[in-house]
Formats: sequence, C-alpha cells, structure tokens
Amino acid sequence: MNAIIISQVKINETDLLLTALLDDDETIKIKIPGILKSKKRSTNSFYPGSVLSFVIANPTKNILIPKEHELLYSPVGDTTAYDSLVNLEALLAPLKLSYVQNSLEIYSLLFSLVKDWASFEPVNQHYMIDRFYQIIMKQLGIFHEETICCKCDKLLNNNGLFYFHHGIMCNSCRSANRLSASHGIPQQWFQLTFENYADIDLRYSISIRKTILQYIKSP
Ligand SMILES: [Zn+2]
Repeated sequence: MNAIIISQVKINETDLLLTALLDDDETIKIKIPGILKSKKRSTNSFYPGSVLSFVIANPTKNILIPKEHELLYSPVGDTTAYDSLVNLEALLAPLKLSYVQNSLEIYSLLFSLVKDWASFEPVNQHYMIDRFYQIIMKQLGIFHEETICCKCDKLLNNNGLFYFHHGIMCNSCRSANRLSASHGIPQQWFQLTFENYADIDLRYSISIRKTILQYIKSP
C-alpha cells in the first residue's frame, strides 16, 4: 500500500510513530521500531510529505509495523530552501487534525502536490496551499462560492466577507447579524486564488490560513 506521511513523533528514543494517509483516504498510525538508533537506516525517508510504499504483515492492529518500506517520492530535494519546508508544514497542517483526517478524500490531490514539491517556486507553493485549504473547506462543507449575499441576495463585487456556516455576506447583513469583520474571510481571497493569484497579498493569505486552522480546530 502507498501512503503519504502526515506527521512523525519520536517515541522511546528509538522508535518513530508516523501518521500516514493511505491511497484509499484512510489515516493510519505506523511504528518504525529502532529507526532512531539504526546506523543503516535513516529517518529522512519518513519526513512529513514523503510518499512511501509499505508492506504490512499484520494489518489488524491499531498501530501497524511494516515488514518492508520503500521511499517513492520525497518532498525534500538536495537543495531544498527553508521556505519550501515551512510551506510544506503549512500544507500538511490541516491534515494533522483528526476531525479533518476522517472527513476528506484528498489523497490524490495531496500526492500530486508533495510528489514534485521541491521543484515548485515558493510563490506557487503558496498558491497551492491556498487552493488546498479551499478544497478542504469545501469537502468539510464550510466553503461556498456564492457571489451574492447569502442573506439578502444582493450581488457582491469582491466586498463581501465569508463566514463559516453562513457563506458570503454583504456589509449591511454582517452588521445586522452582529458579526465582526475580523472573523470573516474576504471574498476577494476566494476569487483571487481562483483567478489571479499575482494580486494576492501573501501576509493576508497566511493570516487567513491561521483563521481557517483555528476554526477547524475548534469543536
Ligand atoms: Zn446582504
């Protein structure tokens, strides 16, 4: 079976515990015993974002121990920039939440991103992260693409704000519903990420991603 590593933690100073997304969109825990003390084998193969093929002997247990593994693709190249690693961390962040893990069909998309991650320019990585977050929100049922106000049907020209569980709302309906502007996500962000990413302010994009992660984290 093929899997993408979502996260890794060290346990007992000898073992590595991995969370991995399988190609059937199931999330599993995999233990690699002894890897941290091994002189022959390296932990690099299990870097988050890596794609591996695993042979599992006893797949009925909660935590699987593979009999064999092979690294198929690594998101880290020989000269990977620090930016690229930070961006990779941002890409994988929503998938670390168990609520998200159990509700998505995202393997093929994630595979297509991490497979060539090291070869993408950082600006393109940001675009992909934003699109990835949008697709996750859509699959979780909290993103809508309306261009009219969800309350009064008024046509909006990029000046609405998106609210979780509501949709895109005009300013007067936002005030009437006592929603704070600081908790909304600008409609402009949704449109720009689909249309012309060059116009997007990256700081904006990063703070929006934080808002989305916080929202997804809160029960
Ligand atoms: Zn309205």
